Amino acid sequence: MTTTHAYDALVIGGGGGGLRAAIELSERCRTAVISKLYPTRSHTGAAQGGVCAALGNVEEDSPEWHAFDTVKGGDYLVDQPAALLMTEEAVEAIYQLERWGLPFNRTSDGRIDQRRFGGHTRNHGEAPVRRACYAADRTGHMILQTLYQQCVKRDVRFFNEFYCLDLLRDDAGITVGIVAFELATGELHVFRAKAVVFATGGYGRMFRVTSNAHALTGDGPSVVWRRGIPLEDMEMFQFHPTGLARLGVLLSEAARGEGGIVLNSEGERFMERYAPTIKDLAPRDMVSRAIYQEIKEGRGGGPAGDQVYLDISHLDPKVIEEKLPDITEFARIYLKVEPMEEPVPIQPTAHYAMGGIPTDTDGRVVVGADEDVVPGLYAVGECACVSVHGANRLGTNSLLDLVVFGRRAGDDAARYVREADLATPSERPEQPTLELLDGILGRTTGDNAGEIRKELQDNMFELAFVVRSDESLTKMQQIIASLRDRYERVAITDKGARYNTDLMETVELGYLLDCADALVAGALVRTESRGAHFREDHPLRDDANWLKHTLAYREPDGSIRIEYKAVKMGPYVPMERKY
Ligand SMILES: Cc1cc2nc3c(=O)[nH]c(=O)nc-3n(C[C@H](O)[C@H](O)[C@H](O)COP(=O)(O)OP(=O)(O)OC[C@H]3O[C@@H](n4cnc5c(N)ncnc54)[C@H](O)[C@@H]3O)c2cc1C
Repeated sequence: MTTTHAYDALVIGGGGGGLRAAIELSERCRTAVISKLYPTRSHTGAAQGGVCAALGNVEEDSPEWHAFDTVKGGDYLVDQPAALLMTEEAVEAIYQLERWGLPFNRTSDGRIDQRRFGGHTRNHGEAPVRRACYAADRTGHMILQTLYQQCVKRDVRFFNEFYCLDLLRDDAGITVGIVAFELATGELHVFRAKAVVFATGGYGRMFRVTSNAHALTGDGPSVVWRRGIPLEDMEMFQFHPTGLARLGVLLSEAARGEGGIVLNSEGERFMERYAPTIKDLAPRDMVSRAIYQEIKEGRGGGPAGDQVYLDISHLDPKVIEEKLPDITEFARIYLKVEPMEEPVPIQPTAHYAMGGIPTDTDGRVVVGADEDVVPGLYAVGECACVSVHGANRLGTNSLLDLVVFGRRAGDDAARYVREADLATPSERPEQPTLELLDGILGRTTGDNAGEIRKELQDNMFELAFVVRSDESLTKMQQIIASLRDRYERVAITDKGARYNTDLMETVELGYLLDCADALVAGALVRTESRGAHFREDHPLRDDANWLKHTLAYREPDGSIRIEYKAVKMGPYVPMERKY
């Protein structure tokens, strides 16, 4: 049985990006949030270190310096007008969170305290600057709770544990709604709407070692990809240098912002050699590569020689307790290491998707080199690519991205809703989704989803991680093709209607395969090294040929076509990235 609903606007995803858009929308039109997780369980709640804005509360700062850092940090693949807009609107966005009750840490005179974070500097690289606003190491949790409260206050309608599995567009390409699966009952729901905002988060779960929650399987990008929307800069995936060894659980960069340092097995503070000016506070791509290099040259520790160490034992215990309580607890619980006394074993962990669904600065999804707007379709947060993060995101710029572009997307969607009519979906719009699910449920024997997922994660970690090459990526592409073949024959044992998590995890695996496929296709064509994308066989950045975005399209036969789009330049001329 299928139930049909009608709203003016739908937001898919109850993380920070989705909730911020919903706040804006709900003041002006009938809005529903559809979320596979209960909203406050979204990954935004796991964000630790901070959200940045040039408030200048502790040290002199300016939005323009922030924009420069963002562009340079992103290795010049950033669309500069978007970065200038974000850093300009950042200040008001933070004060709005404060007015909504977010409990930021304070300076002694009562203002929002700020701390250092990688790549954020004063006066175009002179020295690190204190720009990250924070609530201990639980900043994301506080943002998510604050935004959720505002949604409740505005009577936003929530459909929790509903999985969006399809996007509905009419023949002219106009957005008509979505199809969702209700986990509790196994029923399908058709949601008609004038505007749909995708805010489904990242897809780090394609890698074996990741900081990402289980739910981060790239559903939004894959759903729209299957409906003809390209994905931008998918090769740009960030590996965070300080994940707990082997587990990937994140130790926030805030640890280094507060004075923590990274050591190799010889106890050397090796970042002094790689980034003499800002050392351990160099951007994540550089620190991750430096760790890789140290390990390769035999200065890694641990049984397999594949880890280095994060040391905060020299910090004042009071600072650790007040400003880094959660991450020190993670080290104790998961590795049985006492960070106040000894260095914590770490390794790079798959962390953040810079690429995703292409949008303009109003969150509108745009297609092709000329950026044709898809009427009624929006994307925001980690699933989107504005692009303010370019080839490498600076820490604390993601939470900022959520609140700045969440507001802008909600605002523009509300405007669009006023002018548009509610279109009628085709006859039985749920049919393709039914076929997808029946295909999986109908087979009694077949391949095992868990094994396919494990092979995907292991191989992506070996072949498409911090260091890549034509050889490794070609191999990965072949592996994905064979995993896709096996996925076509996948079977599950649970055939029930209620809470069939087996079924949903299998659908999610299909999304992960899509995102991995697009990532590898982009990484293969980009024959240069830029930001997080490092090609051993093309170790230098190549602005003459590659100062452009990739757009990956999925063709009807399943192959991938790559197009290109110019980077929007601005005041900052690309230069060598030194810190
Ligand atoms: C451990 C960790 C620490 C971090 N720390 C920081 C930090 O200190 N500062 C910073 O700026 N950034 C940080 N980040 C990055 C930042 O937290 C994320 O990029 C950001 O929170 C993503 O927000 P989002 O709203 O896009 O998605 P999420 O918060 O991931 O939410 C996604 C939502 O989409 C829903 N969803 C997904 N698929 C479907 C579907 N098919 N149907 C329906 N709903 C769906 C989910 O239910 C969820 O509600 C951190 C990330 C991690 C993993």
